[in-house]
Amino acid sequence: CGIFGIWGHDKAAELTYYGLHALQHRGQEGAGVVVSDGDKLKVHKDVGLVNDVFKDADFNRLSGQAAIGHVRYGTQGEGGSDNVQPLLFRSQNGSMALAHNGNIMNAYKLRGELEAEGSIFQTTSDTEVLAHLIRKNGRETNELSISEALQQVVGAYAYVILKEDKMYVALDPRGIRPLSIGRLGSAYVVASETCAFDLIGATFEREVLPGELITISDEGMEFTRFALREQRKMCAMEYVYLSRPDSNLNHVNVHASRKRMGMELAKEAAVEADCVIGVPDSSISSAIGYAEETGLPYEMGIIKNRYVGRTFIQPSQELREQGVKMKLSPVRGIVEGQRIVLIDDSIVRGTTSKRIVRMLKEAGAKEVHVRIASPSIENPCYYGIDMSTREELIAANNSLEEICEIIGADSIAYLSADGLERAIVKDKTIHQGICNACFTGKYPVTEEGRATISYVK
Ligand code: 5GP
Ligand code: SF4
Ligand code: MG
Repeated sequence: CGIFGIWGHDKAAELTYYGLHALQHRGQEGAGVVVSDGDKLKVHKDVGLVNDVFKDADFNRLSGQAAIGHVRYGTQGEGGSDNVQPLLFRSQNGSMALAHNGNIMNAYKLRGELEAEGSIFQTTSDTEVLAHLIRKNGRETNELSISEALQQVVGAYAYVILKEDKMYVALDPRGIRPLSIGRLGSAYVVASETCAFDLIGATFEREVLPGELITISDEGMEFTRFALREQRKMCAMEYVYLSRPDSNLNHVNVHASRKRMGMELAKEAAVEADCVIGVPDSSISSAIGYAEETGLPYEMGIIKNRYVGRTFIQPSQELREQGVKMKLSPVRGIVEGQRIVLIDDSIVRGTTSKRIVRMLKEAGAKEVHVRIASPSIENPCYYGIDMSTREELIAANNSLEEICEIIGADSIAYLSADGLERAIVKDKTIHQGICNACFTGKYPVTEEGRATISYVK
């Protein structure tokens, strides 16, 4: 998911809409905004892409100087409009809206406890659990109630919370999900990715720190911590696949890190070939790096139809297959008779690689050598990326030779976990750690709530 917030601007709702546009790649199932006019909170949200959701939005009604927004990518809870965020809660002593990116691992347990005490939930979203924890026993939404609620949830999370006269911003103690703050004139802005700042003309100020809680109001920003600072464990998949190439995460540009992944991969797994091709869009950066390192020409052997979105409705397997053909096409004149190195950023279930190898071979490619710019994904993610069961992961259930055969490649190789770390991490100080649990099985946070290694500030 993607989250956005702005405080202190006349056009808060419109700017949130623009910000969500820049974050659209982080979630295509739903979008929404909640705005405060200082007196009350107003909401506009629905299932669908940002553009569709806001097509009929009445921005005059959404007047106000503060807003938060969300694009939804469903990993937790069911689809449908109930789970579209921001979630808005109204009560006699003030309203509160929440937008969340990540996953709360102990949500089921907490929800059971809350329900036993009389809470009634509106959604199946893990985000709602935090709202109930904050307001438990009739407490107000403030720094203390939010801190205490955050201390009870375990997992990966970036939150923006809005009430009539304040905004709160929080990041999990490991900083697994990205979250940055910026300025737009005198206004404060927060966003999952810095590309949202660029789009609205805001300047990047700094990252939200792991375990930090920021309060924003007309008095300015105040910083506190709800957890001890631990070594950052930014999700490696943010760099590999999820984030936009023009974003910087933890002071590392995403495109540059992908290019280095391609270079590391070339050092580890070179192969005799005629050209290098990347799967659009997310693998182009690493394909450029691989080509640069090996000296092989980089070619545009696959083009993408930009009008077929990731949300292309896929009601059946047959139409799904058709969907990929509509989205990606081989450039026959380039691939015919060639020995190709095909770079993809990752293999999850194996569907994409399999189809593309077949497509290239049908277009006349002589050999297709698949090179993956990240290690093999053998473990589920519990931190908000959509691969939560071992059964669905091709690399958890097959050997390298079997995968090669299933996808029909002439050879296959993955980047090593060390190579990935070298590509992302500039120096291993407290700021620079990554989570790579889906590759290595070393989970930085477990449901018992105990982080595996602790670096206390
Ligand atoms: P596969 O087809 O093997 O299941 O998924 C790998 C492909 O999907 C890669 O091309 C990659 O760019 C993309 N991908 C990687 N991770 C994710 C994810 O978490 N969600 C979605 N929708 N696509 C992903
Ligand atoms: Fe990201 Fe993988 Fe860690 Fe999940 S397990 S947060 S996908 S690096
Ligand atoms: Mg891809």
